[in-house]
Amino acid sequence: MTTSLIPTVHLARVYEALIAAYGEPVNQPDNDPLGGLVGTILSQHTSDINSGRAYQQLITTFPTWEEVRDAPTYLVADAIRSGGLANVKAPRIQDVLQTLTDQQQIQEGTQTLSAYLSTELAKRTTEEAWAYLRTLPGVGPKTAACVLMFNLDRASMPVDTHVWRTSQRLGLIGPKVSADKAHLIYARVLPPEWVYPLHVNLITHGRKICHAQRPECSRCPLYSECAYVGSVNAQETAFSG
Ligand code: SF4
Repeated sequence: MTTSLIPTVHLARVYEALIAAYGEPVNQPDNDPLGGLVGTILSQHTSDINSGRAYQQLITTFPTWEEVRDAPTYLVADAIRSGGLANVKAPRIQDVLQTLTDQQQIQEGTQTLSAYLSTELAKRTTEEAWAYLRTLPGVGPKTAACVLMFNLDRASMPVDTHVWRTSQRLGLIGPKVSADKAHLIYARVLPPEWVYPLHVNLITHGRKICHAQRPECSRCPLYSECAYVGSVNAQETAFSG
């Protein structure tokens, strides 16, 4: 069991400043973690538009996940071609579906794969569910957190490149903290209701102002809370483990 930390005054100020700048986004979970997991795999290394198109084509071609699992891999790849890396993603998706099938068979269950994954996640704490998802083939920490947060509205913070970069610059996590480690830190320090708004707003901030190259610091609403420009000292504000 990990120890909970109390959010710092600095973290609270960053959270509030982001809300003031970008609003308070509200999650709309669909309670479909298997659809979310496949969708997240499809979204890797491509745009939301392309992966959304690939997902729609996949579920149109194969109306159930069992059909996706049992189809020849080249037909699954054909269906998701618009999402890019189809020859990598098709076997990865089928591996996940087959793994869930094998697990359920061991338990002698008879649910659909979709219902089976929902049941497995529902009986675990968020931290346990995150760890469980990561045992599935090709599912990393960010993908696992995306499924829990977006599809089930559970307090698991996905740390993508924007969240990682802005978190470091704002002195929320230390400069040597990896994106993988940041998932664990945020799991301990964030109040559950902050997870979704903070995730979305850090991405918005990273895209609009705090770019990877040439961040627009002169017009940044977070300037007074930023370690990168020296407004705060990351050694005092950052969580490092
Ligand atoms: S001041 Fe600059 S580096 Fe700091 S958060 Fe704003 S844009 Fe990013």
